[in-house]
Amino acid sequence: MSPGPAEIGGVFLADRAGLDGLTRELAAQWRLPDQRVAGTLWWYMACDVLLSGPVRGLVAGAAIPDPTLESTVVTLRPDAGLAHVRHLGTCATPPDAHRALRDTLDRVIVPLAEASGAAPAALRALVADAVGTIALAAAPDRAEAAAQEIAAGIGDLPMPRFVEVAGRRFVHRVSCCMVDRIPGAEMCVSCPRRDSNERADLLARRARS
Ligand code: SF4
Repeated sequence: MSPGPAEIGGVFLADRAGLDGLTRELAAQWRLPDQRVAGTLWWYMACDVLLSGPVRGLVAGAAIPDPTLESTVVTLRPDAGLAHVRHLGTCATPPDAHRALRDTLDRVIVPLAEASGAAPAALRALVADAVGTIALAAAPDRAEAAAQEIAAGIGDLPMPRFVEVAGRRFVHRVSCCMVDRIPGAEMCVSCPRRDSNERADLLARRARS
């Protein structure tokens, strides 16, 4: 039986050389045009993995998995994206969780921006949209208030915003994931650069599907 993917300590994600290696591997396997695209896409996917447990815990008012890098163990995918995170502890209070999230985000975003050339503000916008998306999946009725409280608690993030289309709520994205730079990929339905009427039309079609 072949061994499963290796786990590594979360502090690896604060290492500029380590992040450079991960994003170069992603770029090579996905045939991405440059490191800025690779860093942005890698972070877009990583946000969901890193933030899901803590944000869901905060939204639910339940136990909050500790996102501190020293309290996390991550598993990588074969393409160097994050597959999974294991949290080794919990945060005592929501403000503790906000502080831990802020610390973790700062420790990863700064070296990732340096390694890839992606703008820190663009990487933070991806965090805001990920918080909104996770909150929406966890508690559609309370997503807006919960996501905005979390973003405000973390600080230095755009406010997650939402839009109602055809009776369904969506995240009103402020970030660009650069997924359309993957060879053969199409534009995102919720792309913030789309004309607002076109975006509403596409979301309405998705709501009805
Ligand atoms: S479609 Fe829009 S959001 Fe998606 S990658 Fe392209 S520019 Fe970014």
